[in-house]
This record gives sequence, C-alpha cells and structure tokens, in this order.
Amino acid sequence: MMIARTLEELRAAREALGPVGFVPTMGALHAGHLHLVATAKAAGLPVAASIFVNPTQFGPKEDFARYPRDEAGDLDKLERAGCALAWLPGVGEMYPPHHATSIHVNGPAAHWEGASRPGHFSGVATVVAKLFGQVRPEAAYFGEKDWQQVQVVSRMVADLGLPVRIVPVPTVREADGLALSSRNRYLTEAERKGAPALYKALTQAAEQIMAGKEVAAILHLTRQSLAQAGMVPDYVALVHAHTLEPIAGLAQPARLIAAAKLGAVRLLDNIPVG
Ligand code: AMP
Repeated sequence: MMIARTLEELRAAREALGPVGFVPTMGALHAGHLHLVATAKAAGLPVAASIFVNPTQFGPKEDFARYPRDEAGDLDKLERAGCALAWLPGVGEMYPPHHATSIHVNGPAAHWEGASRPGHFSGVATVVAKLFGQVRPEAAYFGEKDWQQVQVVSRMVADLGLPVRIVPVPTVREADGLALSSRNRYLTEAERKGAPALYKALTQAAEQIMAGKEVAAILHLTRQSLAQAGMVPDYVALVHAHTLEPIAGLAQPARLIAAAKLGAVRLLDNIPVG
C-alpha cells in the first residue's frame, strides 16, 4: 500500500495507479469503514482511502481535540483490507495559508444534523470537494450510517457537476443492532448495553408507520421510548429520503432518521421505511 502525506506524494501515487475508487474517512477505523473499502474493491478499481480529521466540520464545543486517532492501527487495517493508497494530508495541506474558499450547502443540509451542528455540512462539503479534487476518483463510497451526509454530498456533486459517482453503502451494525461508529468507544459499559435501543426504536417505529399508524403519534412515542432508555433525543423524523424534508406519510421514498445523546456520546441512526 502506498502512503501519501503531501500533495506531491499523492500526485506521484495517483499517476502510478490510474482510475481509483475512493473512501474518505476520519480514521479510528472499524468494520463499517472496512466494508466501504471492500465494496469499493469489489467494484474492480484500486482503492484509495483518506484519513483526515477535518477541523472545519466540528463546532467549537465539539470533540475535535479528543476525536479518536490511531494512525498506525488504521494503516494496518487499510493494508489488510487491500487498499492501494492511503492519503493522510496534514491540516496545512488541506487548508493552506490564505485559503479563502468554502462550500455553502442548503437543501438536504438545512435540517437535522445541519440545524443541530451549524457549519457542520459546510465543513463536510468543503473537505469532500477538496478531497475529490486531490484524489480525482471515478467513484466515492459513503456510509448510509450518515444518511444525511450522503444526500448532501450527492446534491453537491450534482450541483457542481463534479466528475465522480457517489455510491451509498449500507450501515454495518453490531450483532445487537447498534450502528458501528468511531465514537462508540466512549460509551460506558452500561451505556453500551442500552445503546441498541435507538435502532430498536427506529425499527419498531418503521413497522408501525408501515402498518398505517399516524406518523406524528409514532414519532412522539419513539422519542418517549428513547428517553425511557436513558437517552436525550435530539430529533426523530420521517423524511423524504433525498431532500430530507419532513413528510407526514409514505408516498415518497422515505427514511426514518434519529439522533440522541447517550451520556457524552451523540448516537446517529436511520433506516428505510417502506
Ligand atoms: P467517518 O470516519 O466517521 O467520517 O466515516 C467515514 C465513512 O464511513 C463515512 O462515509 C461514514 O458514513 C462511513 N461509516 C461510518 N460508520 C459506518 C457504519 N457503521 N457502516 C457503514 N459505513 C459507515
């Protein structure tokens, strides 16, 4: 596996490889990330993965400084997963002195994570656009775990006419249903036991909505059940799967999305409905 840490090293590696599939990450890799790599690899192109904890997508009160970092472990995992190239830019590589350009996103970025984390999706869109410009992949693989993020990135690619195909990849879960996340390691033992309640609540809500029960009532009950499980729900919503606008029924492609705080950890999950 080639490792590039500067734009010059990246350029040399990219010339050697030809077309690539791309998996952007923030490191602290788990089986969810590796499933993205495996999916990209199965599509037949060499795989480039990036590890960059992007400061501009963290709010001032968020966990940028204590976001988990494990470069040696991550490189080992990427190598074993069959990655051809690891791109590890420094902050100066990504945000050179006097940088002055960022991407403003609206539409699918307007609500939910976008409302709870002001500036988050602008930071995501900006870094993803930079990564696309640097790596120039044929296709880029994103986890459905961050459903809203996939829609925001897909919208940006369509709006800016970027020459890359966005491939959504289903969420990898623990045996008890909890979606894998780099932040799960911050759950206490007791919180970890309670954390699958989020996925369970979403699954039950989706069943009830599909059975024809009133959506608003089901969402209300779901928030209550999360609170009973010791969580502080941020939002639970039925949305149009691509615009992320709230919907009251199942006429459109629909997604049930939720975020809830469990102790110090903000859990995020979503499932299809219908
Ligand atoms: P992150 O390192 O958290 O920025 O995530 C990098 C990529 O991995 C994003 O496209 C995430 O959506 C994806 N990802 C994170 N967790 C999972 C999971 N449990 N299953 C599938 N993809 C995931």
